[in-house]
Amino acid sequence: MKYYSLNRKAKEVSFKDAVIKGLADDKGLYFPKKITPLSKSFFKNIDTLSNVEIAFEAIKQFVTPEIPEGILKKIIEETLCFDFPVVSLSKNISTLELFHGPTMAFKDVGARFMARCLGYFNRGTNQVTVLVATSGDTGAAVANGFLGVKDVNVVILYPSKKVSDIQEKQITSLGQNISALEVQGTFDDCQAMVKNAFLDKDITNKIQLTSANSINVARWLPQMFYFFFAYKKLYKTHKDIVFSVPSGNFGNVCAGMMAQQLGLPIKHFIAANNDNNVVTRYLKTQLYTPVKSVQTISNAMDVGDPSNFIRIQEIYKNKFDSLQKNLSSFSFNNTQTRVAMFDIYTKHGYVADPHGAVGYLGCKTYLEKNTKAHCVFLETAHPTKFLDVVEQVVKTKQDLPKQIQAVIANKKVATTISNYSDLKAFLLL
Ligand SMILES: *Cc1c(COP(=O)(O)O)cnc(C)c1O
Repeated sequence: MKYYSLNRKAKEVSFKDAVIKGLADDKGLYFPKKITPLSKSFFKNIDTLSNVEIAFEAIKQFVTPEIPEGILKKIIEETLCFDFPVVSLSKNISTLELFHGPTMAFKDVGARFMARCLGYFNRGTNQVTVLVATSGDTGAAVANGFLGVKDVNVVILYPSKKVSDIQEKQITSLGQNISALEVQGTFDDCQAMVKNAFLDKDITNKIQLTSANSINVARWLPQMFYFFFAYKKLYKTHKDIVFSVPSGNFGNVCAGMMAQQLGLPIKHFIAANNDNNVVTRYLKTQLYTPVKSVQTISNAMDVGDPSNFIRIQEIYKNKFDSLQKNLSSFSFNNTQTRVAMFDIYTKHGYVADPHGAVGYLGCKTYLEKNTKAHCVFLETAHPTKFLDVVEQVVKTKQDLPKQIQAVIANKKVATTISNYSDLKAFLLL
């Protein structure tokens, strides 16, 4: 499969080069040249297939032959070593739990898949440095997914005091090939510094940099799997399946749209936003006006200018009408999110994290006008990753899962930086 740059000034590359480079030379995100829908019979019989078989069919065209089929199967098996349960909350609402991986947020799948692809491409050759900005969960998933991968160094930038304590421990306590940089600034500052580094010849002449944000195709595309897994569990009993995706950088919802392009019968998408609502505003006004991100209790979605929105525009060929038919977006503030967490707990006996709660609100709003649909919100992180808010709202002590217990006692090791020259100095050290 060839990938082209969405800025259309750089040359086409193979899957391998798209993974290693992350971003094209013209700063554009890569996009696959062709999307071939899967057969009707695949969808009809999807409930007879295992998750690994489904994932293999879904991603095969995007990564083979650069990754041979046998190796791809193995990578997928290792990536998907946990469950993806669908929990029904009411007649119209279910949640797809994406938090059963090692760092308990949905980013584990993309990070594990990408780490293994990079490990395969990199075998016996040069050192690669994965440079990544995180609002919390990416850093955790990447640190865990890449830990111990040979010849890959990982440098993670996170905004100081804007990630949860557990997220910070997950990012800063692993050691080995993982370094954590605590940035005096916001997530957007972290992301801007990473982008600068990719364009800085002083750095790129010396170090092979790659990204592990959802701009990287190997991080982004495996997120298609979730939508197939939920469909498999629901299609025999529910029609008109709609997904509400708590969105920040819009990689996850965009991956859902790729699944739909492959023929997965999804009726509609909802991008559920917190106060960082540039896309909600865009769908109302047709004006895309990024603003600086503001801090909320669903911090992984505190993104002012979502990188993957350009891929969504590409999927819909920049046609506003087609996009609007397929995507709704609603935004909810902290108070509404807390009320939703309380309601989900008292009405349905389910403890949701703040991101999932925003997704739930997306379902509720959509269902007001679309009463026949079945809405699945993605529960993108385990509630105990956001322990303070969750315990405050549901007023019951939460048991910590073993993955969380394991990091809490670890020691934080991070280097504080405040601007781009600090980052440059660190990388060139
Ligand atoms: C990253 C993240 C999101 C946002 O996902 P995007 O793909 O960036 O839109 C939502 N919830 C949680 C818990 C996350 O970690």
